[in-house]
Amino acid sequence: MRAGRDGASVRLLAVTKIFSADAIRDAYGLGLREFGENYVQEMEQKAPLVADLEGARFHLIGHLQSNKTKRAAQLFSAIDSVDSLKLARRLDADRDPEAGPLDVTIEVKLSHEDAKTGAPPDEVQEILDFMRSSKNLVAQGLMSVPPWSENAEDSRPYFARLRELGEKLGLKELSMGMSNDLEVAIEEGATWVRVGTALFGRRKKV
Ligand SMILES: *Cc1c(COP(=O)(O)O)cnc(C)c1O
Repeated sequence: MRAGRDGASVRLLAVTKIFSADAIRDAYGLGLREFGENYVQEMEQKAPLVADLEGARFHLIGHLQSNKTKRAAQLFSAIDSVDSLKLARRLDADRDPEAGPLDVTIEVKLSHEDAKTGAPPDEVQEILDFMRSSKNLVAQGLMSVPPWSENAEDSRPYFARLRELGEKLGLKELSMGMSNDLEVAIEEGATWVRVGTALFGRRKKV
């Protein structure tokens, strides 16, 4: 690989938002097992259509509203977009222990754009401390979505900052990089890339 990294250390999260359950089934048939969805309600509709796919795991990567944590904790194996202590507390309370622990990732806001979700970097430690002491959550790592840019190189400083924060906190998973900037993300240490368009084509507006 160009980044000089072992390919096995970077995993692919297939982002299937807007695409049908059949797209998930096709990707599963090709060997993909980890899927990303953005909306609780959309997953609710797809869940019965993919319930038989043994070993398939679904991650929530879109913003989670606190009134949907109960449903999210049932539908997903992992919540990659935890961006507040309140959300972490609710997910811990709402996860059924019999379903096993819920993997959680903290989404970090690294830019000052108001529209972007994510926890401010100075709140991450507190959220992480809670996760580590919780009963039903397992802290995996950090996630971030840099401001949109045509030029992948613009994402590099954000990816580097996420890596530094992860190192400081002792977290090994870094979910960063999408179709347009995944190579740069891998060079900067991504352990997960979240890819939709490059796998499934362009999403139609709904
Ligand atoms: C939609 C989405 C992706 C995938 O984006 P592509 O550009 O289609 O690869 C990745 N991460 C998040 C958080 C998304 O919402």
